[in-house]
Amino acid sequence: MKLKRLGNKSKTLNNKRNVLIVLSGPSGVGKGTIAKKLIEQNKNIALSISCTTRRPREGELNGRDYFFIEKSEFKNKVEQGGFLEYSEHFENFYGTPKQFVLNTLENKDVLLEIDVNGGLEVKKNFPDAVLIMLLPPSLEEVRNRLIKRDTESLAKINLRMDRIDYELSKKELYDYNVVNDDLKTAIKEVEKIIYQEKNK
Ligand code: 5GP
Repeated sequence: MKLKRLGNKSKTLNNKRNVLIVLSGPSGVGKGTIAKKLIEQNKNIALSISCTTRRPREGELNGRDYFFIEKSEFKNKVEQGGFLEYSEHFENFYGTPKQFVLNTLENKDVLLEIDVNGGLEVKKNFPDAVLIMLLPPSLEEVRNRLIKRDTESLAKINLRMDRIDYELSKKELYDYNVVNDDLKTAIKEVEKIIYQEKNK
């Protein structure tokens, strides 16, 4: 387990501030599982539900996993300034609802589970946001996991690996890097970071 503090951050004078936490990392690294556990175990953290134009996967629910909307509605929301950030990922759009995040931050910490482009965009507008990138123990393992899943062609797997390389190339721009080689330890490390940041 590695925990690395990167970059400078502006400090606040408040004790126990509510923090905007961004959790990113390449697909298959366990982001979703860690985000879910964090919410279950910490009542003061609220998860932001993103809007997306992709179709729901089996088992996904509208309003729980995402707000599944049409491209035209997404475009309208962009034009109305309704997103804190948004980005395109494999031809689908994903965006963080701005008003929910701003309102919720008044009372709680807010967790965004978003990609690196989104995370860096958030940091531009909210320098106090805490950017945490989850890293796989090895790239080989991620590739093997994708191959084992056996739901995608090799060409698609290679595309995903390119995307993973891209996400990892931005890791130094994140405030913290946490390697997820053991789920429980990784969750503890993320909780420790949030605790420290709240007390800054
Ligand atoms: P998936 O389609 O697998 O659920 O998500 C694809 C990628 O989009 C993941 O890296 C996920 O973290 C990211 N993502 C989900 N919601 C948002 C969002 O609101 N904004 C951005 N920038 N990325 C998001």
